[in-house]
Amino acid sequence: VHQLTPFIQTYKKQRYPWVQLAGHQGNFKAGEKPGTILKKFCAREKEAFEILMNDSLRPFVPKYYGSDAEDDYIELEDLLGRFGNPCVMDCKIGVRTYLEEELLKAKEKPKLRKDMYEKMLQIDRTAPTSEEHQMRGVTKPRYMVWRETISTTASFGFRIEGVRKSDGTSSKDFKTTKSEPEVKVAFKSFIDGYEHIVKQYLERLHELRHALEQSKFFSSHEVIGSSLLFVHDSKQASVWMIDFAKTIPLPNGVPPLRHDVPWSVGNHEDGYLIGLTHLIKIFEELIQ
Ligand code: ATP
Ligand code: MG
Ligand code: MG
Repeated sequence: VHQLTPFIQTYKKQRYPWVQLAGHQGNFKAGEKPGTILKKFCAREKEAFEILMNDSLRPFVPKYYGSDAEDDYIELEDLLGRFGNPCVMDCKIGVRTYLEEELLKAKEKPKLRKDMYEKMLQIDRTAPTSEEHQMRGVTKPRYMVWRETISTTASFGFRIEGVRKSDGTSSKDFKTTKSEPEVKVAFKSFIDGYEHIVKQYLERLHELRHALEQSKFFSSHEVIGSSLLFVHDSKQASVWMIDFAKTIPLPNGVPPLRHDVPWSVGNHEDGYLIGLTHLIKIFEELIQ
């Protein structure tokens, strides 16, 4: 029996509280093998990991150890295992965080949603159009597209999901972090006291870009809602791609994705490389 998050992970005779920045508490527990974690099963994610284990991206994702017989979970390398008191940051990559099929489904019978109108008002009273104000409602597809503009997702192709610093404090309060100066403040605070390891992050991000350019998986998949997980301690820093629950193969007939061009409905582009480019630029500016 494994304890649900937050749980104490044991690896190489060390015990440490495991850090989970995104997702539901309870989606993760300690693994059976040393240094692994179990993530709640999702067929798409399993399929993605199976391909990734034979792709140029393999060094950039957690090792995948298969799923259990009941398909309750998948077993993954615990990326925190090789760090002592790690600082962790989860950045969700891409210019949108929903699949095209989710948008199409929302467009099928678009009803006016009062709840979504009110959520919109709470964040920005000027966001609804005068018509939407009159009707006191917005449609779900309208809300989905708008929601990506309140963070840096639509503009920079990534957003911060959560940060955990070495003093043990963590924050997930980035939903409306929208400007470049705000992002820089958050990154600065993440690397505060560890400025010497930013070079390692940059090297790794450049290697990742190179591997993405070579990857058959990457050109043939819409990568949505996936994150880059940044982890460092005083000695080392690295980055991995995680969360492939919304990563799906392109439908037949859709040409290979470029990942660096704007999205328009039907082209399936996710803007993954737009996000990576901005991340690299911001890290570069931090050490200048
Ligand atoms: P969501 O879809 O809301 O982002 P999820 O349930 O799909 O959540 P993930 O995004 O895969 O879950 O992971 C949630 C968090 O768990 C990450 O932000 C990270 O902190 C941690 N995590 C996930 N996978 C690993 C791993 N292999 N090693 C270490 N930490 C991990
Ligand atoms: Mg995630
Ligand atoms: Mg997910």
